[in-house]
Amino acid sequence: MASKLSVMSTQPQPDTATEFETVIGLEVHCQLRTQSKMFCRCPADYAAAEPNTYVCPLCLGMPGTLPVINKTAVEWTIRTALALNMTIPELSKFDRKNYPYPDLMKGYQISQYDMPLSEGGWMDVETEALGKRRIGITRVHLEEDTARLLHRENEAGERFSLVDVNRSGVPLMEIVSEPDMRSADEARTYLVQLRQILRYLGVSTADMEKGSFRCDANISLRPLGSSEYGAKVEIKNMNSFRGVHGALEYEVKRQAEVLGAGGVIEQETRGWDEDREITLSQRSKEEAHDYRYFPEPDLPPLAITRDEVESIRSELPELPDERRARFQSDYDLGDFETNLLTEEPGRADYFDEAVAALQDTINAREAANWITGDLFAQINKDRSHPDLEEQPIRPAHIAELVGLIVGGDISRSQAKSVFETMYETGDAPAKIVAAKGLTQISGADALAPIINQVIADNASAVEDYQSGKAAALKYLVGQVMRHSRGQANPQQASELLVAALSD
Ligand SMILES: [Zn+2]
Repeated sequence: MASKLSVMSTQPQPDTATEFETVIGLEVHCQLRTQSKMFCRCPADYAAAEPNTYVCPLCLGMPGTLPVINKTAVEWTIRTALALNMTIPELSKFDRKNYPYPDLMKGYQISQYDMPLSEGGWMDVETEALGKRRIGITRVHLEEDTARLLHRENEAGERFSLVDVNRSGVPLMEIVSEPDMRSADEARTYLVQLRQILRYLGVSTADMEKGSFRCDANISLRPLGSSEYGAKVEIKNMNSFRGVHGALEYEVKRQAEVLGAGGVIEQETRGWDEDREITLSQRSKEEAHDYRYFPEPDLPPLAITRDEVESIRSELPELPDERRARFQSDYDLGDFETNLLTEEPGRADYFDEAVAALQDTINAREAANWITGDLFAQINKDRSHPDLEEQPIRPAHIAELVGLIVGGDISRSQAKSVFETMYETGDAPAKIVAAKGLTQISGADALAPIINQVIADNASAVEDYQSGKAAALKYLVGQVMRHSRGQANPQQASELLVAALSD
């Protein structure tokens, strides 16, 4: 390594943009949020549990225990695979992946090797620089998570590790892409979209920071125009989307510098150092494990009937792309609102509920504006209600507020103050309007006395207006608003004034 680094620093920097093409493939591990673990009845959601309390002889790896397949985990993996356009083979099986490491209670992990639950799918990914491109997905298979190691140091400076077995045996779905991504941006977009799909499917919290969605990347460079792959580097330890993006950007640069200086990229595993924003060599190809896969003798092969596949397919929820398309075509929403509203399934559901409560869906866009504008701003400001689900304004209240505005009952500026009270109290807007006496004064009959009074009281402004000073009208409307304590409908007041003064 030392000699290679010195080559990097003494050679001139090559023009990376024109010489090399970046080739990236991603491996995602995603915990399924099933009730129980993959092969035993321990609870799978260990987030709030004391260490080593969600354990049993099986997930502790005791001899003599026999695994039982979690049916829901298999169904959810097929559900995910179908959403990713994969083929589901009729026969699948589990295998033992053998390697000695203290996070592996049995000394092997039950995984899938040559007969995974699904193969050959794809996802379309769009980036600004590369446009819309189809990324192949090699396989989605099912395995079990390992125990968690907590590395510690005592007062004497001695380092040691603790083992928390709660995570051992939690269902883990592995989603392997083809080496089809061509930039760090594209890889990040792929991950963001994949996470979104997993959340829409309801199979995982897919939270990268909390470890329920983890990603390793394979990256290599090749001369532009070449169809052969260069030696690939595997990157681990990336705990955020930002980390994945940063590690890949760094690696593109590093490999281009090595290759540009006539050096050779070695196949190895590198770790992302988040603080220093660099990747560091962890182990070379020679140190790679031979996992000695063999069929898991304690589990029968899985036969998946076509009826089962079709039944799971028929129950797929509306996916992000479909939902985006529907919002745009049915409600005429712009890209910005659509993307905000479909980012999380809960947001899209909230909007759908608000639209369902509207008297006329022609006002859906108005509802979308209140949700993505005022409501999201309030949630961002308010630390006590971080979630859309937890904040006090119900979708039906948004619909009611929109109805009051488009019906002319309240003005937009009144609506803003009603909205604030809605957020504070959780009350329905009509109730707030009544309590505050906010109802807008509209219609010629109601406004005429106020307008006549204003005309009588403001002779010079009236004269100004009639001699052609248009700005005087604004002043007169302002007087109407003042006399009505802000309750007059300003649009109508203006029209009625113009009519009265042109007589
Ligand atoms: Zn267990």
